[in-house]
Amino acid sequence: MKPIVIIGAGIAGLQAATQLHRKNVPFVLLEKSDRAGGRIQSDLVEGFILDRGFQVLQTNYSGVQQSFDLTALQLQAFDSGARLWIRAQWTSFLNPLRSGLKLLDLIPHVISFNDIFLLGRLWFNLQWSADELVQSNESTSDMLNRWGFSEAFQTKFIRPFFRGIYLDEHLQQPASLFFFYMRQFLEGQAALPAKGMGALADQLLDSLPSESIRFGAEVIQLSSNKLELKGGELLEFDRVIIALDPHAAAKLMHVALPESVHLGSKTFYFSSPFREVQDTLLHLIPGGSKLLHYCFLSHVAADYAPKGKDLIQATSLDLGLEPEEALRLLAEYEDVQGLKFLKAYAIPRSLAKVGAFDALKQTAASKGFILAGDYCEMPSLQGALVSGEKAAIQSLL
Ligand SMILES: Cc1cc2nc3c(=O)[nH]c(=O)nc-3n(C[C@H](O)[C@H](O)[C@H](O)COP(=O)(O)OP(=O)(O)OC[C@H]3O[C@@H](n4cnc5c(N)ncnc54)[C@H](O)[C@@H]3O)c2cc1C
Repeated sequence: MKPIVIIGAGIAGLQAATQLHRKNVPFVLLEKSDRAGGRIQSDLVEGFILDRGFQVLQTNYSGVQQSFDLTALQLQAFDSGARLWIRAQWTSFLNPLRSGLKLLDLIPHVISFNDIFLLGRLWFNLQWSADELVQSNESTSDMLNRWGFSEAFQTKFIRPFFRGIYLDEHLQQPASLFFFYMRQFLEGQAALPAKGMGALADQLLDSLPSESIRFGAEVIQLSSNKLELKGGELLEFDRVIIALDPHAAAKLMHVALPESVHLGSKTFYFSSPFREVQDTLLHLIPGGSKLLHYCFLSHVAADYAPKGKDLIQATSLDLGLEPEEALRLLAEYEDVQGLKFLKAYAIPRSLAKVGAFDALKQTAASKGFILAGDYCEMPSLQGALVSGEKAAIQSLL
């Protein structure tokens, strides 16, 4: 039997390789760049750990719990909740399941009694199944209005919070995604590995035999039993797992995919003088600004900044936003004295829209290719992990 070929060493490809390796099934993992991790990587810049685009790990993801040694990652958790900009100052909104009576202080400026009742109902329903809550083809935005969450709660918390998760200004992703994330946030924690999100890929990679992994191996042509690498090398296989982002998968399979299925984002990193008062909540910037949110990453995970400094990230959906403008916008909400721009990551295809990949899936099925990648499940680390595991199982059938 020829080794199973896996194309792409993002989290989905690494997960597929891990599953095969555990079963002693030979594989070869082909990655076009010189590093594993795909969209989850970290860089070291002037002593700061910069994740390639601000992202967090949800401790409640089943895939995360099953796939990683969480102790070795030394997870550092955000406080559960967010800071909201209310009457020209930052106010804490903490996870309703953990804040108890403190929530009442936020009535009526942020939340109403009816919102609290609706959240309770939502959480109760999520204990059984989100299926009953979902109406087919309903967007998150429509669902929020149908449920009747108050205008204040929607504009001050839900919409800014979910804009940052979806990277979608208008919350057009399906309501099912909202229910999934709400459960993760209510019951789990958002966290960072002490050494950066890239540690996730490193941990998966470390458990794989290095002779089965090839970096700088870009697949440029693919047929049902053969592929060509950039440079002309040909490789034959019986089974292939295409663990690519949807754009690259579509290109390789000659499927037309409109650019509009992708959601882009830009993350700015600033170094700041060290602040004694630690703040581990995400600051949600009200709608209308080109910035979505910002936070002090080094207050959550101290190693993200060298001693005596702090690291601030700010995220925007505007890929053309310049650092000076981002800093000016940040100054409307934060003391920016002493802040120094470090680096920005503009990522045009950060996430994909749910449900836009039927043509890709049909083409793959007709050619006998197995697909993996977050977009096969849901646009997240959890989706990538689950898709990789399913693809490995399918490749053995
Ligand atoms: C800014 C940003 C914020 C995010 N926030 C979160 C978050 O908070 N929580 C969360 O759970 N998820 C988040 N995500 C999503 C998460 O990062 C992705 O779901 C996950 O990393 C996708 O993994 P993947 O393996 O499916 O794809 P990718 O990571 O895209 O991996 C594909 C791999 O294929 C390689 N490749 C491409 N073409 C070829 C070729 N022709 N030949 C060989 N190799 C090739 C690429 O180099 C890459 O390594 C975020 C993503 C971004 C970018």
